[in-house]
Amino acid sequence: LNKQATWKKYLPLQTEVQEFQSEINIIEDILRHALNDGELQQFYVQYQPIVDINSGKIIGAESLLRWHSPQLGLVSPSELIPLAESTGLIIPIGEWVLQTVCKQIKIWRDAGFTSLPVAVNLSSRQFTQIDFNQKVLGFLNANNLPPSCLELELTESMIMQDVNSAIATMNELQSFGVKIAIDDFGTGYSSLMYLKKLPIHTLKIDRYFIQNIGYDHQKSAITKALIQMGHNLNLNVVAEGVETEAELAYLRQHNCDAMQGFLFSRPLGVPEFEKLLFADKHRFK
Ligand code: C2E
Ligand code: MG
Ligand code: MG
Ligand code: MG
Repeated sequence: LNKQATWKKYLPLQTEVQEFQSEINIIEDILRHALNDGELQQFYVQYQPIVDINSGKIIGAESLLRWHSPQLGLVSPSELIPLAESTGLIIPIGEWVLQTVCKQIKIWRDAGFTSLPVAVNLSSRQFTQIDFNQKVLGFLNANNLPPSCLELELTESMIMQDVNSAIATMNELQSFGVKIAIDDFGTGYSSLMYLKKLPIHTLKIDRYFIQNIGYDHQKSAITKALIQMGHNLNLNVVAEGVETEAELAYLRQHNCDAMQGFLFSRPLGVPEFEKLLFADKHRFK
């Protein structure tokens, strides 16, 4: 009787775990199917403009993966990426993103937009692949692209997992001419000691710090310090997730270089992004 009671105590938890596990398995199967069936049209890339903080001119874009599954609907990257990481499916998905973005850069270059670097988010498993750099070079060469038109976004934690090998990979990418950005800066383990050793071009201040700056004194102080530190290290500083005029005003006042966020534009499909791009071209000619 006692044993039964003990078992009973764990039963609801056990069931929850099992249900969660099978849910994951089902979603994993759907994801695998989406890839294996060559149904890659379920995946597409949106582009969010990155703009100069003072002129508002579009100076680049960040590519963001979207998965529209017939069964699940639109799956957020924050759910998709961890699942793709844990199953290894991030490798083919990540390659698809890189290839798709390189083809798109080529199209924009041919249309006259020759200085519009596009950023691609990387995941840990992708970045630590032995032949990752060669793959990047392959996609660039296949589209006749100068490596400087591609910026790869890494997070602090991806770098800190194995600092020495990350630095080696980054150094090689830099020697090719590929740019590197630290994404979500400020949310990971502070790696200030390493920051000056890293071959990076851009520091992207995480949205958390940007939200409500100008009003929130702590966030304002941190953002101001991050911008200064970035500039002392000769980095291009980008503010992520700018949503209000007040946030923009604070960033301008403290000489942040660039921003992206809903205030200027949400991530857009190619036709909508091009509309902004062409309007911009006329505005600044
Ligand atoms: P991230 O790289 O930090 O990308 C910025 C995220 O903030 C995007 O979310 C973007 O839509 C959102 N965002 C931009 N401006 C604003 C704003 O003003 N307000 C708010 N609330 N949000 C804003 P998204 O597209 O859902 O992507 C989430 C994360 O998923 C990305 O964060 C990135 O870490 C990851 N991710 C997206 N695409 C890829 C990909 O192709 N590969 C990998 N490995 N990860 C990706
Ligand atoms: Mg990013
Ligand atoms: Mg970010
Ligand atoms: Mg991120």
